[in-house]
Amino acid sequence: MRKEFLPFALPLIEEDEIAEVVDTLRSNWITTGPKTKRFEEAFKDYVGAKNAIAVNSCTAGLHLALAALEIGPGDEVIVPSFTFAATANTVVHVGARPVFADIDEQTLCLDPADVEKKITPKTKAITLVHYAGRPGPIDEIMAIARKHGLKVIEDAAHAIYTKSRGRMIGSIGDITAFSFYATKNLVTAEGGMVTTNDDSLADKIRIMSLHGMSRDAWQRYSATGSWRYDVIYAGFKYNMTDIQASLGLHQLAKLERFQKLRKQLVDRYNEGLAQVEGLILPEDRIEPEDRHAWHLFTIRVQKEKFGIGRDELVEELKKANIGTSVHFIPVHLHPFYQTHYGTGKGDLPVTEKVFDEILSLPLYPKMSLQDMADVVDAVGAIAKTYA
Ligand SMILES: *Cc1c(COP(=O)(O)O)cnc(C)c1O
Repeated sequence: MRKEFLPFALPLIEEDEIAEVVDTLRSNWITTGPKTKRFEEAFKDYVGAKNAIAVNSCTAGLHLALAALEIGPGDEVIVPSFTFAATANTVVHVGARPVFADIDEQTLCLDPADVEKKITPKTKAITLVHYAGRPGPIDEIMAIARKHGLKVIEDAAHAIYTKSRGRMIGSIGDITAFSFYATKNLVTAEGGMVTTNDDSLADKIRIMSLHGMSRDAWQRYSATGSWRYDVIYAGFKYNMTDIQASLGLHQLAKLERFQKLRKQLVDRYNEGLAQVEGLILPEDRIEPEDRHAWHLFTIRVQKEKFGIGRDELVEELKKANIGTSVHFIPVHLHPFYQTHYGTGKGDLPVTEKVFDEILSLPLYPKMSLQDMADVVDAVGAIAKTYA
């Protein structure tokens, strides 16, 4: 057994990020400024979108997307329930109603057929989550949206690096929001990015991200700036700081290396766990032109065959000094949604079935192959005990 606890997730911060943050701190410009601008430019080029707006979280990005599309009271937005709460919470924040659609059991992303069933005259948008970093059915969702005059928002919290049929996520839907939270593939501690090919939406999102002011502080306080500004929306305080952008610039530059390390771990996990009875591995079944970002490595525990269920396996792995996590507790089963929207067990059969079985194993570039082998050995040993 491992002597040291293996955390579920750890960021990989190296000397160049540290030096860049120190440089920012010494520069006298610590909030949104030149480094945020550079990070936006680099990110925009990376995903191939026309516009990128840096924000302080993916949640902020999702909120801005809905606000910029003028979605509000009386409107409905179709979202998966098999996601982090922010995907639905932000719909509530703008006063609209989240309508939950089920997922496809292979992709664990929205099931286009169920999405179509949930459309009503009040539906304004669909939010697609690319679960675990695997591309969701973006073309199918876009086709449904166009047919019904709806907008498509992509929650790409897991999907930096993800490609769908050769195109980078962030360059396809109407608005895409990325997360740079501490556990994500690219980290800025807290942070996010919104991308869109629509220039007027981009302007609106940028203005709304900083109090609805028509000019940002960097422009106002620079030598050529003026003190005047106009507030043209009741905007938010969602801007990214140059301290965060300092991390982001270097993390983006080394993303390819991080992704290679993730893929190497995934391949070994697949090899190591293939023989264990009662586990469903995250078979990608993705098309040749697709690319998986492997944000998460999720297994499904089939209690009958494996011997114990997911909850018991979590406890056994904890005893073996291995941290795990569950992505996600379905949003429609959380008390807030049950109380306010009357959702509950039985609404989404595939989501609920997958939730009962799913478990995320540690997967991050800072993990060694030995760490990964420890996880495989522990799972194998537990399987033997209960077989
Ligand atoms: C992490 C996550 C978010 C929220 O990201 P923040 O940057 O923490 O706001 C949204 N959606 C999904 C699917 C996530 O995993």
